Amino acid sequence: MKRSFILFLTTLFITNSLLAQTPAVSSADILQKLNKLNTVGSVLYIAAHPDDENTRLLPYLTYERKYRTAYLSLTRGDGGQNLIGKEQGEPLGLIRTQELLAARRIDGAEQFFTRANDFGFSKNPEETFNFWNKDSILADVVWVIRTFKPDVIITRFPTTGEGGHGHHTASAILAVEAFTAAADPTRFPEQLKYTTVWQAQRIFWNTFSFGTINTTSEDQIKINIGGYNPLLGKSYGELSSENRSMHKSQGFGTAKTRGDNTEYFKQLGGDKVTTDIFENINSSWTRFTATQPIGESIKKIISKFDAQHPETIVPDLAALYKQIQALDETDKTLARWKKEKLQETEALLISCSGLWLEAYATEYIAIPGNSIQTTLQIINRNNVAVSLKNIRYINQDSSLALTLKTNELYTFKHTEKLAVDYAYSNPYWLNQKHSSGLYVVNNQLLIGKAENDAAASIAFQVVIQDIALTITKPVVYKYTDPVKGELYRPLEVLPKATVNLVERVYAFNDNTPKTIQFTVKANQPNVSGTLQWSMPQGWKATCAQPNFTLKEKGEEIIINVLVQPNGIATNGKISASLKINSETFSKSITRIEYDHIPYQFILSDAEANLVYINLKTAGKNIGYIPGAGDDVVACLKQMGYTVTILTDDLLDKGNLKEYNAIVAGIRAYNTNDRLQIYYNTLMKYVEQGGNLIVQYNTNNRIGPLLAKIGPYPFAISRDRVTNETAEVRILNPKHSVFTYPNKIDSTDFNGWVQERGIYFASDIDPKYQTLISMNDPNEKANEGSLIVAKYGKGNFVYTGLVFFRELPAGVPGAYRLFVNLLSIPQNK
Ligand SMILES: [Zn+2]
Repeated sequence: MKRSFILFLTTLFITNSLLAQTPAVSSADILQKLNKLNTVGSVLYIAAHPDDENTRLLPYLTYERKYRTAYLSLTRGDGGQNLIGKEQGEPLGLIRTQELLAARRIDGAEQFFTRANDFGFSKNPEETFNFWNKDSILADVVWVIRTFKPDVIITRFPTTGEGGHGHHTASAILAVEAFTAAADPTRFPEQLKYTTVWQAQRIFWNTFSFGTINTTSEDQIKINIGGYNPLLGKSYGELSSENRSMHKSQGFGTAKTRGDNTEYFKQLGGDKVTTDIFENINSSWTRFTATQPIGESIKKIISKFDAQHPETIVPDLAALYKQIQALDETDKTLARWKKEKLQETEALLISCSGLWLEAYATEYIAIPGNSIQTTLQIINRNNVAVSLKNIRYINQDSSLALTLKTNELYTFKHTEKLAVDYAYSNPYWLNQKHSSGLYVVNNQLLIGKAENDAAASIAFQVVIQDIALTITKPVVYKYTDPVKGELYRPLEVLPKATVNLVERVYAFNDNTPKTIQFTVKANQPNVSGTLQWSMPQGWKATCAQPNFTLKEKGEEIIINVLVQPNGIATNGKISASLKINSETFSKSITRIEYDHIPYQFILSDAEANLVYINLKTAGKNIGYIPGAGDDVVACLKQMGYTVTILTDDLLDKGNLKEYNAIVAGIRAYNTNDRLQIYYNTLMKYVEQGGNLIVQYNTNNRIGPLLAKIGPYPFAISRDRVTNETAEVRILNPKHSVFTYPNKIDSTDFNGWVQERGIYFASDIDPKYQTLISMNDPNEKANEGSLIVAKYGKGNFVYTGLVFFRELPAGVPGAYRLFVNLLSIPQNK
């Protein structure tokens, strides 16, 4: 009880502080920012995935060295595993994007991405570049360097392969090439319409010691990053635990560390240095001849700063603002710092004035063409001369001349219409269909951005002292939860209605009609229309009532359509749309709601796979032990099986005889400690004639797997075959797994998606039979993807084959093979 209570409180605190529109700015924060204002240096850290970044180094660079720091993650981590829910692929990439942003809010660094899609594990950079299109991703890395303009670039991995994953090595290769290419006007010249070339001073590899691989050495540059920051009241090792623990979907919570801690850097390019990554780079305002006085002014402001009365430096900040504004922009390095430091000074003017502004909508959903009501609030809390000159609403201006009295809250209510063609607030990289390696983004100015701009924003023109500023605030939705208190969520611009299919795949193995359910949801009141659909050739659909009328906003209706193969059914997509008056809406919505990140959603085409599989089944009742989350159960049900979820309660009762087979969901033994308790129950079930099929479990990250799984020993390795077209050699074609009830041959391994298998068995006891041999190009044959052992009257199977990907993708051969695993005959 106690533990969950503490957890709950922590979550609450994070939710409130992260999503609050105007973060609290204490005097300690202000002082920190003043110190940063006096530093002109920047660092770009480059790696491949969310979680690759060195979470100890980033807070050290931002808060101790006070550099403008950013992490460029080439991918959004779409291809990884998810420890907190069922999301895979694009939705998982969205979760990890937001987890990186949550981590950056803690360590103060910025976040960038490229268009690279994390297509799953890759063994070498050549394979990686085949998927990504090397030049496209190089262009994106060059773009981020040209726009961010770092003095120093740091890679997490080397170009030589010690980073393991092909994406890791690829990230270093691209960083090194981009280091030079960014400065070359003949490379990606189309970018120079928007930015200028940039030569970073040098590039380093942040060497590491991971497990048995130690790439650090005493002749490398060493930096002690274990310091303590009294303004934060934390050491960087403590901050590092906080930002790393934001990677919740990967289960990366870590302990806080205190005390000295050395990071190592090996130089990969640029002018040679020996003691520090910033050696000979002047990061004070004396860097430019014209800016020496600016550094002096900031020093004076810092010494004058009174924590009890931050407003006393407002006139000085105003003078500084003008000083920076007057800087010449011919020097492009200086021009970059001018822009940035003006923004920092602006933020300080607002903080020191105790100025607070907010814009929120009365509802969290807005519809193009409909009205949106917003409430704006502004308050000046520190007795500084502030006046409000203008409010630019989403699409309308309103001039004012209002001197803000001290500590008086001003509220404005406004209603306006959103344009009919106002864009839906869908993640920009998911707006178009894409290949498995590369997202499609046509607007150059969006490249690199971590997320969309707010769906709508409102600009306040204010004058602080005599400085005119435009302060833009996102329109958010603000509400109060009786338990959690005041909360914010992003405004969503959505279609009038969405239509979702319940499953990702509808698989048929005979001509019996199946009911496909379409959930129509209204995002505004009074929506009525008709459901429409399209299907590939050879299918028939009937619907008793395709028309719908939804009175309330948020109301849903389920429309049942009876679908069946009709003649020679072609596999393809069933797509749905809604005809509402003269408009057609064809988007489905996938919502992603976790407490540690702002609520997210994805709008995608409303469609699912429709497949006819030549498949026989044997047996009827399947027990399923849930693992980390997969869609295998739904796929089995479609094949006509009755599937019972085996809860601890049912396993306790131990009455398992009624199941023809029991299947353990992916990573069941990693996620459910209690399966160790049921080991004997499950073995007895097999002994008495049942089939137990265990899908992959991992042996990494969350610690070695201690639980016994099968009747005889085997280990779980990290061996995998990532090439989804790799040849599959059937070792024993006469085994019932390849003959009953479906005859399996090599064609059943056609059309697999993403990969063949992961976490293969190794050190396999001779009592197991290995049934399949396969390997990636230039690797040794591996026989650990599918192992079977007789045990008593029944059979035990461990398989790393990725059925959890192939079944929802509607791959016929995967269904046939999986059904055969369920159907291995009893031993006499
Ligand atoms: Zn990685």
